[in-house]
Amino acid sequence: PEPGNGPDGSEAERVLRRVFGYDAFRGGQREIIEHVVAGGDALVLMPTGGGKSLCYQIPALVRKGVGVVVSPLIALMQDQVDALRNLGVRAGFLNSTQDPDERRLVEAEFLAGELDLLYLAPERLRLESTLRLLERGTVSLFAIDEAHCVAQWGHDFRPDYLALSELHERWPSVPRIALTATATEATHSEIASRLKLQDAHHYVASFDRPNIQYRIAAKNDPKRQLLELLRTEHTGDAGIVYCLSRASVEKTADFLVSNGIEALPYHAGLDGLTRAEHQARFLREDGLVVVATIAFGMGIDKPDVRFVAHLDLPKSVEGYYQETGRAGRDGLPSTAWLAYGLQDVIQQRKMIDTSEGDEAHRRRLGAHLEAMLALCETVACRRVQLLDYFGQQSGPCGNCDTCLTPPESWDGTIPAQKLLSTVVRLKRERNQKFGAGQIIDILLGKKTAKVIQFDHDALSVFGVGTELREAEWRGVVRQLLSQGLIGVEGDYGTLVLTEGSAAVLTRQREVRLRREPEKAARAAKSAKA
Ligand code: ADP
Ligand code: ZN
Repeated sequence: PEPGNGPDGSEAERVLRRVFGYDAFRGGQREIIEHVVAGGDALVLMPTGGGKSLCYQIPALVRKGVGVVVSPLIALMQDQVDALRNLGVRAGFLNSTQDPDERRLVEAEFLAGELDLLYLAPERLRLESTLRLLERGTVSLFAIDEAHCVAQWGHDFRPDYLALSELHERWPSVPRIALTATATEATHSEIASRLKLQDAHHYVASFDRPNIQYRIAAKNDPKRQLLELLRTEHTGDAGIVYCLSRASVEKTADFLVSNGIEALPYHAGLDGLTRAEHQARFLREDGLVVVATIAFGMGIDKPDVRFVAHLDLPKSVEGYYQETGRAGRDGLPSTAWLAYGLQDVIQQRKMIDTSEGDEAHRRRLGAHLEAMLALCETVACRRVQLLDYFGQQSGPCGNCDTCLTPPESWDGTIPAQKLLSTVVRLKRERNQKFGAGQIIDILLGKKTAKVIQFDHDALSVFGVGTELREAEWRGVVRQLLSQGLIGVEGDYGTLVLTEGSAAVLTRQREVRLRREPEKAARAAKSAKA
């Protein structure tokens, strides 16, 4: 059919209805699609579930030739292509999982003009043979999915993505559309410059996901806390539980199963077949819980994920937002729940200190951690803080834990001074460094074996901190860490002074701390009991 506006709308609208079965464009889709159909470049930043795929699929169907989609999600290509074929779209893919015969078949279809969309792994485009193949056919557009891969330091696909900047030189008149769900200002401009998209139309969607309720809880007994959440609010719901390590993925999945919840583990240590099976079951069946490392989820399109839980602190706000964004794509109420504790901070600090790469890289990781901690410790609306991180202003949302149960803040200057002066005493008087556990035992006046062994009950600060309970002291340490008023180093997470500590010790600085809401305190008590 001829492009242009007929009685039933533009060609793009007809494709939307007839091929995809949708009544109307969502958000900025129309604007983006019309721009690309007309041959313009675009940079699209839209949250997960926002509807990015149509932004290149429809132009590919409307324009003459084959739309080439670059995607690192090799594991999903078969599913994506199958889904398109079910809609009658002629789609194919080329990646390393195919044998030469399959590959030749797709190449032949491409050359014969029998494809609308061709999905390629990014490394394919670095092969001269692929480029020559594309030159022999007609490319209608290049879509670069997960475009943040070009910007993320140390990202696995980065060299392949950097090479994509050359597409423009080889195909100057073919429009390019780069898409990502990651949208800090820095990432945004890096994508534009690395992919040479200076003249592209920038489209930034709202990143708000109002139906997701954000909650961050103090971590006491995370598996029990999770079970409580599932039993009280998410019985029979599908959800994703993220853990940092493979071992904790396995343990948590076992724990849930032994408590009557259908849960499957997913991590890179499982063989490919098991992973594929668990993923397929999650997509197909109702009410399954997948316990996973962050290896799980990229590109997964399951509309009714009702909760995403994190049992460990994510490494960055961007990662956290992307992972929680997998909840509630259908727009129905969903929960993003994170449990975080002192140990998370200590562990991540240690990982950063011992990570490979140069000083600048470590500083960057440190900044990511700090932003994540600021989100965890904020007394303001979580959503305001999240959206602000992505450069969007908003008001209190009424649908996050801090809006629903406003935390009080309290003057923690005196406890902070007691804690810091204990660290000072140990260092000055005995040249010793200890972790948070020992310092807190000293403050509480506990005569543990380790306290007696080191003669710490003879310190003048022994027992000066009985006004707070142990969990509260851990909260104080956690918050001082997140405010940079104390530091942590070494394999044993020893506490050390920072530049900020001095101002607290000399009373030049007041310390405001967040009081854990009553509920959290009660949960902590019953979990201990
Ligand atoms: P993203 O790639 O941004 O994460 P998708 O392209 O996978 O999002 O779209 C998310 C879901 O929304 C999909 O199920 C898709 O079919 C649906 N969708 C996209 N655009 C529309 C629309 N205009 N009307 C209705 N549903 C849509
Ligand atoms: Zn809020």
